[in-house]
Amino acid sequence: MKKIPFLKPNLITLDVYKEYIEEIDNTHIYTNYGPLNNKFEERIIEEYFDNLGAVTTVSNATLGLILAISQMKRPKGKYALMPSFTFSATPLAAMWCGLEPYFIDINEDDWFMNQEQLEEVLNQLGDEVAVVVPYATFGNYLDLSYYQKLHESGIPVVLDAAPCFGTTYNGQHIGQGFKGAVVFSFHATKSFGIGEGGLVYSQDEELIKNIRTAANFGYYGKRESITLGINAKMSEYFAAIGLATLDVYQEKILKREQLYNVYLEEITNAGLFEQGWQVQKTRGKIPFQFFSILCPKDELNTYYLKKLEEKNIQAVSYFSPACHQQKQFLNCPYSDLSITNEITKRVLSLPFWEDMSRDIVRYIIGSLIS
Ligand SMILES: *Cc1c(COP(=O)(O)O)cnc(C)c1O
Repeated sequence: MKKIPFLKPNLITLDVYKEYIEEIDNTHIYTNYGPLNNKFEERIIEEYFDNLGAVTTVSNATLGLILAISQMKRPKGKYALMPSFTFSATPLAAMWCGLEPYFIDINEDDWFMNQEQLEEVLNQLGDEVAVVVPYATFGNYLDLSYYQKLHESGIPVVLDAAPCFGTTYNGQHIGQGFKGAVVFSFHATKSFGIGEGGLVYSQDEELIKNIRTAANFGYYGKRESITLGINAKMSEYFAAIGLATLDVYQEKILKREQLYNVYLEEITNAGLFEQGWQVQKTRGKIPFQFFSILCPKDELNTYYLKKLEEKNIQAVSYFSPACHQQKQFLNCPYSDLSITNEITKRVLSLPFWEDMSRDIVRYIIGSLIS
């Protein structure tokens, strides 16, 4: 078998996006919330959020997180509460806003932030909490009713939903109706990949207006900075790719769902669950980005990664090391992280791309146990 890469990002091709790009040649508008950008946003609100709430594009999700946290954090707050089991962009965004990340454990089954533990830390820290930043782990559908209440009680919530664009439950998009901020990434490795890009959604239109203002040097209407701004705008070229991607995205989600199910079938057939392997408990329709699995308790993912490498299979281990184990965050406070510590020892992220065949999946699963 020749080398099996971890991902094969498969972005939209010229023949599909050409008609959108050509509009730029006609309008001579290249950025600054131009017509393609605005059309892209309108289509997203209409096609993905039932015309509820508002969105604004950003040049990447990290800047989206920074802007949302910066606009929403409580002025006297010091800490940004978040899971340690997330991508480093989440704590980095908090640090760019002058906050200290405070790490919370995750649940054993769905790998979302543990809300009971969060509640305890919220009580302990009181006014020192600036913002809460949950993460919708690996695109899984997170029910936001608890966070909606928290947000309404005065503790701002920014959801890192980077891999979740297109995640739905009973036809409702993740984040829909949420009054905090929801941040999505359109990085090439995400399922809705356009190269670099992102989006912030909220039911709170005033909040989206403020984030949009901050993403354009703090300008609103005239060239005067009225808030702590930066340049985080999406260019018309990326918006063109985004529009063309919307045309095919439902197909892409379907392919990814089907591949996920092929993985589940092959894992079941190979008897891995009986041997103590575990997968994430998921809910809803998810545009899977890769396939995550835990090796049996008391075994190590590093052993299996090496085994796969010997078979020419490229796998990784998101998110191991977890954030609290990384140099930049070693001094950050945290609560009991026993589940995070356990999962980071066991988690493997297996190859995943649209059009991957069952034979390859079988070969990967077979390589884990042979
Ligand atoms: C990809 C990702 C980000 C960063 O997104 P960019 O668009 O690359 O800045 C942030 N958080 C999580 C959880 C991610 O998976």
